[in-house]
Amino acid sequence: MDKFRIEVIKATPNPQQVMWLAMHQDYSEEFVWDQRDRAPDETQAGDNVIKYLLAGERGHYGPLEHPQITLNVGFFPHSMMQQVRTHRVGISFDVQSFRYTGKRILDVAEGKRDVEDVFYIRPVGDYTNRQGKRYSYTQGQRSEDLEWCIQASQRYQQRIAEGLAEEHARGIIPFDTRQHFVMSCNARSLMHLLDLRWKKDAQLEAQKFSELLFERFQAWTPQLAQWYLETRAKKAKLSP
Ligand SMILES: Cc1cc2nc3c(=O)[nH]c(=O)nc-3n(C[C@H](O)[C@H](O)[C@H](O)COP(=O)(O)OP(=O)(O)OC[C@H]3O[C@@H](n4cnc5c(N)ncnc54)[C@H](O)[C@@H]3O)c2cc1C
Repeated sequence: MDKFRIEVIKATPNPQQVMWLAMHQDYSEEFVWDQRDRAPDETQAGDNVIKYLLAGERGHYGPLEHPQITLNVGFFPHSMMQQVRTHRVGISFDVQSFRYTGKRILDVAEGKRDVEDVFYIRPVGDYTNRQGKRYSYTQGQRSEDLEWCIQASQRYQQRIAEGLAEEHARGIIPFDTRQHFVMSCNARSLMHLLDLRWKKDAQLEAQKFSELLFERFQAWTPQLAQWYLETRAKKAKLSP
């Protein structure tokens, strides 16, 4: 899967127990902090959350908003980052702006870094355009496009050497520069993101992002992720 990566920086431990405690407080007379030792184990908590909050389209999503996960997303193209960043509720982002430094671009210009470490160009293969017309992206075209990225990096280097600010010179960098970002969300907003970006007609790279995101989701909240896979994944459902 190209060089794309998603790593977990930090996540709420025992997230399904946290959801369960939040759910439990909805109907418990007691202060649930005092009952936390009697909470079901992580797996059972996940099963209960699904049974009492989600099954049968109950749609009681509030308790899923408490556990948080912070992810480092790496090597995706700018266009994909731009799409994911449109999701504003319950999700925070930090991403390099190229306003302060473009060292990676200079490295490409000087041949110190592989152009494909810094720019994303789609793999050679057969594609379909938005009107449904098929076309092939050839090795020859791809090589030319990589060469174009190198030339643009050299022009960037020239402009920086001539004294332009990074925020000025960045305007000529090819669009699909790889951009790493840090993203935090809760279990509900994570599912919302998957709903909108894991659809079959989503941009190829957004689908790859969603596959990796789902793997992290599965390791963090296994029961909830399984429920998601069976009931919502790739079904283009409206957001929870
Ligand atoms: C296939 C696809 C193509 C797209 N193309 C483009 C494009 O060409 N250009 C472009 O700019 N954007 C585009 N978008 C982005 C789209 O318009 C939304 O901005 C983006 O999907 C965020 O969705 P959201 O509002 O559901 O998410 P969030 O911001 O995470 O919001 C979550 C939910 O909160 C509620 N909500 C959030 N904000 C408001 C609000 N202000 N008022 C009322 N309810 C709110 C809604 O229920 C929303 O679903 C595209 C999205 C998709 C999925």
